[in-house]
Amino acid sequence: MNEKVEHAKKIVEKAIKEHKRIGVACSFGKDSMVVVHLARQVDPSIEIFSIMTRYKPNETFEYLREMNREMNLGLKVYLVADSIPEVLQGNDLNVELLPPEEFNRVSTESKARTGKEIYEASPDECCRLLKVDPTKAAVKDLDAWICGLRNTEGRTRKNYREIEEKGGLIKVNPILEFTEQDVLQYLKDNNIKLHPWYSKEFPDGRRYRSLGCGPCTNPIFDSQLERDGRWQNTSKCGGECGIHTQQLK
Ligand code: SF4
Repeated sequence: MNEKVEHAKKIVEKAIKEHKRIGVACSFGKDSMVVVHLARQVDPSIEIFSIMTRYKPNETFEYLREMNREMNLGLKVYLVADSIPEVLQGNDLNVELLPPEEFNRVSTESKARTGKEIYEASPDECCRLLKVDPTKAAVKDLDAWICGLRNTEGRTRKNYREIEEKGGLIKVNPILEFTEQDVLQYLKDNNIKLHPWYSKEFPDGRRYRSLGCGPCTNPIFDSQLERDGRWQNTSKCGGECGIHTQQLK
């Protein structure tokens, strides 16, 4: 474990040295909290940004707020909306609103056509408009970004590399080799509080192991892969929102 942490730190150090315009993406899931903590040990003023959506659980907004304050993250939040939700209002948070018109039009048309919410009928389109496009806005002035991707998280995460390049944008994945247990141990060792959903208990033994938007996040059994609870009952089950598969620049 110590070796993995030292290796991750070296990757972050090298990336920060090589790229002046670099930021850390933080979803406020467990893996993000590890990379944020690691990166800030190397550079306490490194940019931390978060893509939030209107469908994130309220607990995510509250946790984001709390951790931004406690860890003094200087967080920048990107959100497709015409106003800042009350839970994100205040001087301690920098929220950039992105125009909601396209999402509103597409989701209304989808509902009229299918009778279902857009995240059920067209989750890829929903993720494109609420996550991928906002990520493009977040990285547009960056040369590199640091993420909490891990190889053992799910069926779509097996073949990532520690350093990747797409369209001139470098992505750095310093904790790629961490297991779920390594992540939880790192957070415990460093007294970093977890998002409250990780400690929710279900009578059948399922628990939340990977967090996204509320409607697309389900508890799962320990025998499953961590991301198997994402987008259940859709063709996207256990898959990707698109920010790690699509070109962002
Ligand atoms: S995770 Fe679900 S609700 Fe969130 S943007 Fe993707 S499809 Fe929409």
